[in-house]
Amino acid sequence: MLTIKPIPAFNDNYIWHLSSTTENWIVDPGDAAPVVEALEGQHLDGILVTHHHWDHTGGIGALREAYQCPVIGPDSIPDVNQAVVDGKVFELFGLPTSVLVIPGHTLDHIALVIQEGTRAHLFCGDTLFAAGCGRVFEGTSAQMHSSLASLAALPADTLIYCGHEYTEANLNFAATVEPNNLAVTQRLAEVQKLRQQGKPSLPSSIAQELETNPFLRCNLASVRAQALHHGADKDADEVAVFAALRRWKDNF
Ligand code: ZN
Ligand code: FE
Repeated sequence: MLTIKPIPAFNDNYIWHLSSTTENWIVDPGDAAPVVEALEGQHLDGILVTHHHWDHTGGIGALREAYQCPVIGPDSIPDVNQAVVDGKVFELFGLPTSVLVIPGHTLDHIALVIQEGTRAHLFCGDTLFAAGCGRVFEGTSAQMHSSLASLAALPADTLIYCGHEYTEANLNFAATVEPNNLAVTQRLAEVQKLRQQGKPSLPSSIAQELETNPFLRCNLASVRAQALHHGADKDADEVAVFAALRRWKDNF
């Protein structure tokens, strides 16, 4: 059985620690020190990386050196020694693990899906956040929208492990976009309580995101109407609604 725990790093990053009784893997080590500490003397078997930003890659060099372990991720990252290919399936912990190419936040961004029995675990870096999404730095809004759509199409009970603890701020924005969405109001109250207790708001699930994440709800008339008040023009398609929401959130 797979155990998945967040290792907090920097202000609001999560490095995900995947472990079984015999193996340890980590996702997006922006910093090596908290990983070494979390391993408590155990060996690190490998590193997974979602995209090239320093807060997800800064610790890779030191960890690779210390543990001589494989680094699986996009080939744009110098420390990666097992480059991934879209749709490729490999085994982690003896479980089928697939690669999704999801450009937008960066052009090299990938997601990993580990299938454990009937349950899938999604590691999506800075593309899909709980109740939000990453900024569109390198790709186009069309790319980001399509990447988010491919993640949203995963089974509803897929668990989501993203790269940052941004959920509360994202839900404040979601509540502004959809003031009448009860699921958003309820989730905001739950997340506020968790954060006051110092607990992570993750993992999320696809089902929860479909109900509360405005960036996955650009097809709704109410969300579109809000986008029209925030820069989208009257014949805006779904991508243009998404782009207007993203710009609004950038300045929120
Ligand atoms: Zn990033
Ligand atoms: Fe990040």
